[in-house]
Amino acid sequence: DINVQIEGVTKVFGDQESDEIVAVEDLNIDIRRGEFLVFVGPSGCGKTTSLRMVAGLETPTEGRIRIEDEDVTGYDPRERGIAMVFQNYALYPHMTVAENMSFPLRIRNYPDDEIETRVTEAADLLEIDDLLDRKPSQLSGGQQQRVALGRAIVREPSVFLMDEPLSNLDAKLRVQMRTELNEIHQRVGKTTIYVTHDQAEAMTLGDRVVVLNDGKLQQIGPPQYLYDNPVNRFVAGFIGEPPMNFLPVSIRKEDDGYTAVGEFFEFGLPTDVERAVDEWDGSLDSLTLGVRPEDLSDLSVLDEDEYTENSTLDAQVKVVEPMGSDKFLTVTSKTDEDTEFSARVAPESSVEPGEPISLSATLDKIHLFDDE
Ligand code: ADP
Ligand code: MG
Repeated sequence: DINVQIEGVTKVFGDQESDEIVAVEDLNIDIRRGEFLVFVGPSGCGKTTSLRMVAGLETPTEGRIRIEDEDVTGYDPRERGIAMVFQNYALYPHMTVAENMSFPLRIRNYPDDEIETRVTEAADLLEIDDLLDRKPSQLSGGQQQRVALGRAIVREPSVFLMDEPLSNLDAKLRVQMRTELNEIHQRVGKTTIYVTHDQAEAMTLGDRVVVLNDGKLQQIGPPQYLYDNPVNRFVAGFIGEPPMNFLPVSIRKEDDGYTAVGEFFEFGLPTDVERAVDEWDGSLDSLTLGVRPEDLSDLSVLDEDEYTENSTLDAQVKVVEPMGSDKFLTVTSKTDEDTEFSARVAPESSVEPGEPISLSATLDKIHLFDDE
């Protein structure tokens, strides 16, 4: 059941060819009813423009937007059955919470009893029923954010659009509101399109995540799928924190498969990567191997059956940062101090800066990319 369709949508800003900016290029996404879809990508990649085209605040240069099977491309924002929640929640300071939440219904001339019912229900849902008589200045940032959500919910839209709604909150509150948004979405169950530059927010909130770069869709899928199977180096480097390590390799064919050969290491390749190598015949000299810090372990604290002999990497420890649950290491190649990468190893690892370390890679967690 598709709720919103973005069909071949392109947005070009600027009138003259010389100052044209292609903000969004040929975007195609079907958003399912009830889905929480997150657009993520660096600043300027076209997230806000995409959302504003769904909202009707921006007209696509090419392509169509469909909501509830209806082509709404030329429609006014008010005719689209959407509600938008922005970064600055823009509550009216002189109105109470109840008045703020009633406002969108009042200007649409809803009857008083209907307004009362909807506001009470939304306040219940958001657990702000005891705040209804307060003014915004008497609320915490998180409570204000909930009132802003409440003001969207009372309109009973078929789609919620949210543009970085948590980015004005401090780090701790942001994480807390993230969990609350998850919970609220489960209760409300409405289609939500959410924009953020924060990959952790995208991972934790999205049923599916759209990774955008430079106006173009890089990959779409459930967060865990993107983390496990990034299609290119951009997605691999953007999803996951700390970011994936990238090391240049060439591929050597063996009797029983392939080996990735780097300047100071050799990795036997897992079978699914072998398949990719078969497809890349001819470009085997300039590939990039990607391995996440959390998929590298300190070999000295592993049992023998926990690692494969042919996938170890000898490095030099530069910085050790204990995190409690694990240790975060910055290491360099033994032969080239400029080749730095990171590893997240077990807390039992007792390496010190300046010491050599053998790192073992989890075989099925090795990625290969043929893009820059
Ligand atoms: P994001 O939300 O991912 O940071 P935006 O969608 O705001 O990115 O912007 C995408 C690109 O389009 C950027 O290069 C931005 O400068 C440009 N852009 C956005 N809005 C306008 C506009 N009204 N006029 C001209 N260029 C714009
Ligand atoms: Mg933006």
